[in-house]
Amino acid sequence: MTYVYAFEEGNKDLKDLLGGKGANLAEMTNLGLPVPPGFTITTEACRAYLHDKRFPDGLADEIEARLIALEERIGRRLGDAADPLLVSVRSGAKFSMPGMMETVLNVGLNDESVEGLAAHGGARFAWDSYRRLIQMFGATVCEVPAGYFGDALDKAKHQKGTRNDLDLDADDLRALVGVYKKIFEEHTGRRFPQDPREQLNLAIRAVFDSWNADRAALYRRQERIPADLGTAVNVVAMVFGNLGPDSGTGVAFTRDPGTGAQGVYGDYLANAQGEDVVAGIRNTVPLQDLESIDKASYDQLLGIMATLEDHYRDLCDIEFTIERGKLWMLQTRVGKRTAAAAFTIAAQLVDEGVIDLDEAIRRVSGAQLGQLMFPRFDLSGTHRELTRAVGASPGAAVGTVVFDAARAIELAGQGESVILVRRETNPDDLGGMIAAQGILTSRGGKTSHAAVVARGMGKTCVCGADELEIERGAFTVRGTRVAEGDTISIDGTTGRVYLGEVPVEPSSVVRYFEGAPVSEDPLVRAVDRLMRHADSRRSLRVRSNADTGADAARARRFGAEGIGLCRTEHMFLGDRRELVEKLILAEGQPAREAALAALLPLQRADFVELFRAMDGLPVTVRLIDPPLHEFLPSLTDLAVRVAVAGERGEDVGREKELLTAVQRMHEQNPMLGLRGVRLGLVVPGLFAMQVRAIAEAAVEVARAGGSARPEIMVPLVGAVQELETVRAEAEKILTEVIGDSGVRVVIGTMIEVPRAALTAGQIAEAAEFFSFGTNDLTQMGWGFSRDDVEGAFFWRYLELGIFGISPFESLDRDGVGRLVRIASEEGRAARPGLKLGVCGEHGGDPDSVHFFHEVGLDYVSCSPFRVPIARLEAGRAAVART
Ligand code: PEP
Ligand code: MG
Repeated sequence: MTYVYAFEEGNKDLKDLLGGKGANLAEMTNLGLPVPPGFTITTEACRAYLHDKRFPDGLADEIEARLIALEERIGRRLGDAADPLLVSVRSGAKFSMPGMMETVLNVGLNDESVEGLAAHGGARFAWDSYRRLIQMFGATVCEVPAGYFGDALDKAKHQKGTRNDLDLDADDLRALVGVYKKIFEEHTGRRFPQDPREQLNLAIRAVFDSWNADRAALYRRQERIPADLGTAVNVVAMVFGNLGPDSGTGVAFTRDPGTGAQGVYGDYLANAQGEDVVAGIRNTVPLQDLESIDKASYDQLLGIMATLEDHYRDLCDIEFTIERGKLWMLQTRVGKRTAAAAFTIAAQLVDEGVIDLDEAIRRVSGAQLGQLMFPRFDLSGTHRELTRAVGASPGAAVGTVVFDAARAIELAGQGESVILVRRETNPDDLGGMIAAQGILTSRGGKTSHAAVVARGMGKTCVCGADELEIERGAFTVRGTRVAEGDTISIDGTTGRVYLGEVPVEPSSVVRYFEGAPVSEDPLVRAVDRLMRHADSRRSLRVRSNADTGADAARARRFGAEGIGLCRTEHMFLGDRRELVEKLILAEGQPAREAALAALLPLQRADFVELFRAMDGLPVTVRLIDPPLHEFLPSLTDLAVRVAVAGERGEDVGREKELLTAVQRMHEQNPMLGLRGVRLGLVVPGLFAMQVRAIAEAAVEVARAGGSARPEIMVPLVGAVQELETVRAEAEKILTEVIGDSGVRVVIGTMIEVPRAALTAGQIAEAAEFFSFGTNDLTQMGWGFSRDDVEGAFFWRYLELGIFGISPFESLDRDGVGRLVRIASEEGRAARPGLKLGVCGEHGGDPDSVHFFHEVGLDYVSCSPFRVPIARLEAGRAAVART
C-alpha cells in the first residue's frame, strides 16, 4: 500500500485518498501552476493511525523517502543549519472543514537553523518565523494553552509601546523566542524539540489526532460529514509572505461568493503569513489594491484565476502567497458560496455555455433552496442603523446580544434568540455559533473564520464591523452603547446592523413560489429556471401533507401535485372537542350514533374544502389515527380538578364521568396501543362516518362540476385481515353514496408497522396503494419512542457515531430503508402497478428523497414549505451521477 503521494502523482478526483487540499494541490501542480513542491500523506494512513494509535508499518520509511526527494529537488535539507528547508504540515480532509483541524508552519527551525534562515532572509524574519513555530507547535502538538503565547506577545508589544506586531525588531523577537521556549518547557516538562525530523513526525501525528478534536466532531455532525473518513496531511515546502513589503498573502474568489457576480473578489495582507488572513487578526485590503502594490503578480494571479475557473468549470476559491515578488498558489477548491450565489452562478454558467442544466441542478441543493425561503427585513418603517460592514452570510437575524459562546448556548437553550458578537471567532466558538441566530464580528472579511463557518451552516453573519468597540459585556458604536441583553437585527446580505427589532418579510423566492411573476431579480430568474428543469427531469411526484383548505391551496401554489396525507384527527380539535368527548363518553348505540351524526357534516365540509383546493388532483385522507383519549383532558389534571372541586363541595358530576372515561382508556404505551385501524375496529361507526363524509363530499364537489379524487388511507395496519375488514365496510358505504356520480374512490393503507412491511405481499391484495409512514416505521423499526428519545440520548448516539443524524430526520437507509424496499418490491410483485408513496417527515428531507427515488416510489409527500425542496431534490436525484 502507498501512503504518501508527491503532488505530481495525484489529481483532483482523488479527494477520498488525498483530501480536498491534497487533490487540488496535485491538480494545480499538473496544470503547471506555481505550487510549492510537497507531498500528501493519505487518509488511509490517518485511519490506520487513529485505529492503532501508531504510524502504520511502512509510513515512516515512505515519509523519509519523500522528504529526501523534496530536499534534493529544492537543494536544501530540512533544518539545515546553514540554509534550512522549512515545511508546513497542513490538514486536508475530503470535505472542507475550515479551521477545524491543525496546521503547523515553519517546521524545521531550531536554535541553529534559525541563524541559517537569518542569513538568507534577515534576522527579524527568522526570529519571527521561529516564534510562530514554537507557538503553533506548542498549541497544536503539545496542547499548551495558546493564550500563554498570546499574552507573552502582547507583553512584548506593550514593553515596546506598540500595538503592531511589525514594530517588534529582531532582538525583541529573539527575546520572545526565549520566553516562548520557557512557556513550552513549563507546560510540557521538556525542551522544545530541536530535531527537525522529530518536529515533523509529531506535527503529522497532531494533524491526524485533530480529526477527533471535539470541535471537528461537532462540525462534522453539523455538516453531516461522516465521522470515519480521517484527514490527509500535506507536507509543503514553505514559502513566505512575511519577508517584507514585497511579500504578502491573500485569498481570492473567481466570482463573488455572495452574489455570483463576476469580478475580482478577495482580500490581501502585505507582509504576513497565511493564517493571519484566515484568522481575521489584521484587517486586509481588497484584492484590487494588489494591482498597485505588485502589478506583475496581480496580472499573473488573474490569469491563474481564469485558468482555474475554466478548468473546474465553477467558482474557485484560492489561497496564495507572494514571496519577494514571486507568486505561489497554496490552495484552491471549488469555492463555498451562499445559497443565492449557488443558484445564480449555476444559471450564469449555463448561459455562458460552460455547463448544461442537468449539471446546474446538481450544483444546487434543497437545503440551499430552503435557506432562500428565509424571510428578510422589512425596512419600510423606521429603524436605526448602527453600522454597515461585510455581509458575509445572508439572512435576517434578530436577537439578544451576547459576547461569548457559552452564554449563547445557555440563552438559546432557554429558547431565546441570540446574536453572538465577537471581535473574531475561532473554532472554539463553534457551539455558540450553532446556537446563535446570527453572528456579528468586528474584524475580518468574507474569508474570516466567522464568515466561512457561518456560510457553511447557512447562518446569518456580518463581519468586519470595525466601528464596533467591544469591551466586557457591551459594545459601543458611533456613541451608542449596546449591552448584553439588548436586541439588535443584522442583515447578512447587506451587512447592515440595526438597533432593536426590525420586522421581517417573506423572501422573494417564497413570493415567486406563491405565484408572483418572475422578476428581473437574477436570483428569482435562476430559481425559476432550475426549478423548471428539475420538474422536467424528476420521476417522483411531489404531494403535500395538508389538513385544511388553506394549507392545501398554499401547497398547490408551491407545486404540490396532490395531498399525500390529510390527518383527519386534526379536524377533531378546537371547538369540536365537545362533540368528540360525547362520542367517547357515549354509552350504547343511540348515543354513539348521535355523536357521530353530529360530526359527519363537519367532516364533510372539511373534505369539500380540501377537494376544491386540490381540484383534479388526488387527495389521500387518512382515517383517524391517534388514541381517542388524546382528545380528553390529561389524567392528572382531571384527577386534581375533581379532587379540589369535590373538597369544595362543588358539583363534579360531568368531570367525574370524564375522569372515569380517561381512567378506562389510559394506556401505558399509547403509541403502541389503541390507535389507527385498531380504533376503527373497536369503536363501531367511527371509520364508517369518516368514509361516508369523504364520499359525500366527493359527490358534492363532482355535482358542482369539480373533480374530487379521494384516496382513503387506513393507518397502522399490521395484518391484511385488518385492512380487509375495514375495506368491506367501506365499500358498502361507497357503493351506496357514490351511486352513478362518476366519483372514483380508492382504498389503500399506510405501511408504518414493521409487520406490514414484511407481509406487504399479502397486504397489497387488499390495498390499491401504500404510503410509507416513516415516522412510525422508524419508531417501531428502531424501538425509539418518537416523543421521548431525541432529547434523552440521541446526543450520545451522535457523539458515538452510531448515526450521523437523527433517523427521525433523515431516513436510516440500512434498516428502515430496507423495510421500505422489501415492502415496495413485494407489494408490486403481488399487485403490479401498486401506487407507492411516503408521507412521513422524511418525504421532505433531501437525502431521503434521493433514497425514495432509488427505490422507485411514485411520490413523496411533505409539508407545504418543503414542497419546492422536494421537487428540486427529486429532479437532482433523477440526474445524479452514481
Ligand atoms: C408516519 O407515521 O410516518 C405518519 C405519517 O403518520 P403520523 O406521523 O401521523 O403517525
Ligand atoms: Mg404514523
